[in-house]
Amino acid sequence: MRFADLHLHTLFSDGTHTPESLAAQARSLGFAVVALCDHDTVEGCVRMSQACAREGIEFITGSELTAEMDGHELHLLAYGVEVTHPRFLVELARFQGVRQNRIREMVACLNRLGIPLAAEAVFRLANCASPGRPHVARALVSAGLCDNLDEAFARFLKRGRPAWVPKYKMAAGDAIDLIHDAGGLAVMAHPGLNRTDDFIPRLVSAGLDGLECFHSKHSTALSERYLMLADRHGLLVTGGSDCHGYNKGRPLLGTIRLPYEHVRQLRHRLERLRAATVHSHSVATLKI
Ligand code: AMP
Ligand code: ZN
Ligand code: FE
Ligand code: FE
Repeated sequence: MRFADLHLHTLFSDGTHTPESLAAQARSLGFAVVALCDHDTVEGCVRMSQACAREGIEFITGSELTAEMDGHELHLLAYGVEVTHPRFLVELARFQGVRQNRIREMVACLNRLGIPLAAEAVFRLANCASPGRPHVARALVSAGLCDNLDEAFARFLKRGRPAWVPKYKMAAGDAIDLIHDAGGLAVMAHPGLNRTDDFIPRLVSAGLDGLECFHSKHSTALSERYLMLADRHGLLVTGGSDCHGYNKGRPLLGTIRLPYEHVRQLRHRLERLRAATVHSHSVATLKI
């Protein structure tokens, strides 16, 4: 039986593993396929693809885009995107610019509270284009300003706490179009962690391709619920651990083993999308 983990983070966003170490661990745990879904970036995909090739594992490109519908945050996994797609990269750069400004705003809030953290300390520690709250939390801990990550979130960084700053979110319909444009499929991440089930029919009409039915924070009942919804709406079934390395306790790699059949269906749908895109391009060319 071959298995996949289609939701991994590296230090190109808020994970703590390098692509090489993740690929090596995935192979030793017996995975046949992995996908990288760093937040609002595809920067790690080239190294991950090379590392997976060395380990003899299949690799699927990906990213986890921050989106919203009616003001509710949801995460869209972009599978199979071309990592050099110009418009996709321009949009990701916009996300990343806002994330970097947000770090400065969070640090300014902390400074106003008398917490002497420097934005440069966060950027140095993050050392990536797509920094987030976990980097601020780690900088607070390493400067001795908080005892641990949970304290940093609970005192300062959680929604409603004094250094919480909202994130840039792309309208979900626009994000789905962007993902398709970049040759990828749009899958709703960890639907059981958001209160966004009512949006699923609208997201399906907007072109949503799949649901992440299996996730390390989904109970069996939740997985079953989303399997039923995926079936009802003709959506792909995906799954992944959402492993961030050591950011949140123990690494979660190995906790989700998605049967390969779902990967086969995802690849099939990707091929259909590509064929349709090539067809529409050739039709456009014929018109000219
Ligand atoms: P951001 O994208 O900057 O809003 O940061 C979101 C990340 O922070 C996600 O990966 C969350 O899982 C993580 N996060 C949220 N709460 C905590 C916490 N208490 N401890 C560690 N990480 C957290
Ligand atoms: Zn994360
Ligand atoms: Fe997420
Ligand atoms: Fe994630």
